[in-house]
Amino acid sequence: MRSEPAEAHPVLIVGGGFSGVMTAAHLAARDIPVVLVDGSGRLGRGVAYSTRDPVHLLNVTTSKMSAWPDQPNHFARWCGDEEGLDFAERRAFGRYLGEQLAAAPGVKAIDAMAVDARRQGEGWEVILSDGQIIAASALILAQGNQPPTPFPGSAGLPPELFVNNPWSETAHAGVERVAAEGSDVLILGTGLTMVDTVLSLVAAGHEGRITALSRRGLIPRGHVHPPSAPAPVALDEVPLGNLLSLWRWLRRRSATVGFRAAVDALRPHSHAIWQRLPEGEQRRFMRHARPWWDVHRHRIAPQVAEQLRALVAAGRLEIVAGRVGKMEADGGTLRVPIARRDGRDTVREVGVAFNCTGPLGDIRRTADPLLRSLLDQGAVRTDDFAMGLEVDDHSRAGEQLWALGPLTKGRYWEIVAVPDIRHQAEAVAADVQKELLIHV
Ligand SMILES: Cc1cc2nc3c(=O)[nH]c(=O)nc-3n(C[C@H](O)[C@H](O)[C@H](O)COP(=O)(O)OP(=O)(O)OC[C@H]3O[C@@H](n4cnc5c(N)ncnc54)[C@H](O)[C@@H]3O)c2cc1C
Repeated sequence: MRSEPAEAHPVLIVGGGFSGVMTAAHLAARDIPVVLVDGSGRLGRGVAYSTRDPVHLLNVTTSKMSAWPDQPNHFARWCGDEEGLDFAERRAFGRYLGEQLAAAPGVKAIDAMAVDARRQGEGWEVILSDGQIIAASALILAQGNQPPTPFPGSAGLPPELFVNNPWSETAHAGVERVAAEGSDVLILGTGLTMVDTVLSLVAAGHEGRITALSRRGLIPRGHVHPPSAPAPVALDEVPLGNLLSLWRWLRRRSATVGFRAAVDALRPHSHAIWQRLPEGEQRRFMRHARPWWDVHRHRIAPQVAEQLRALVAAGRLEIVAGRVGKMEADGGTLRVPIARRDGRDTVREVGVAFNCTGPLGDIRRTADPLLRSLLDQGAVRTDDFAMGLEVDDHSRAGEQLWALGPLTKGRYWEIVAVPDIRHQAEAVAADVQKELLIHV
């Protein structure tokens, strides 16, 4: 008996966040049947946009958040924000994204995790956590960031006192509990996830003291309202290939046009700039420059920046540069020694500590069974830094296999936010269509 040709099967996408939903929508627009698989309970919204907290705002204005590359004001119009200058709630963006999925014809959504995949003829056979086996003409990995590994020294601490995953239900319960108790809080990490956690604590009525700690104590800068005037540059004006020259150039330009305009002007060129840095320079960027780049590039809404400033001024929030020592649980309290960079070492006794140091940095340590299996089979390879998967210029990770979003950071670096991923989703859909036509 002949098996059905692969192109008779749907394209299977793993991951129902922004990357997966928009790739599905672009494929559907090309009349290609799609199965979209996500068993996290966040299908159609993903991690960023499934927050229940109205205080969690988008970190760019509505004018920058259209899901559709060819309709830049699509989201702003959806919000009724004619000027496109508002910082909308992230959960509103989740509803918007859900609507794009609902409007996409021919997408079958399945509430299950993909746990394994094997090459089958010219396509793939994908095994789901509910036991289903689905034959697919192509496989697209849109799995987002991997959850963080346990913070060093947190093993053995009660999970309600040390919360390793800030996106989990345990984190939500921790916020509610310390808000009711009024106990102090420690946040490890001072980036965007710290900001989210502080906002959730304040919204829940927490009145204790919050200490946020990272090695350098750098926090995200705020946007300004109205936005600073853009100062576009052409790619050939930007020094390429050498990090120090690029950094010096950026500092000089920031002094003239302001850091916001200088950093934003690099946005359209970010993939080219990253790809022209030799591997050693890319490593140097990640080791030394990344924290500075992140806080200037990934900024927060002006009202959020003002709220943080006010909390710091009131002594409710302290941002500390330093490291934690050996943490110990004592009843309902966590005792944490802190070695501060300024030498004023201290000890904090807190009702909960949240690990907000960011997602898993080394894909080889992923606990996701599908990724583990694909790596073990040699069907995919890690990128040079093992941040994610090696992909080519078309985001192909293997035979009839594509990856997008944060999994492709090694190739593109700036590929974690909507304005970048929306183009990638469209390009991947076009490439999949081309590939499937070859096989008809
Ligand atoms: C808190 C936060 C706020 C952000 N705010 C903004 C913002 O304001 N503006 C902006 O442009 N960008 C923002 N971003 C960045 C950006 O939009 C997201 O990183 C982007 O949406 C990535 O989407 P994704 O679909 O690739 O990943 P995710 O949203 O992480 O979705 C991946 C999905 O795949 C599922 N999955 C993983 N493995 C499997 C498996 N084996 N089987 C089935 N399902 C699986 C996961 O459970 C998850 O639901 C934010 C990110 C975060 C985390």
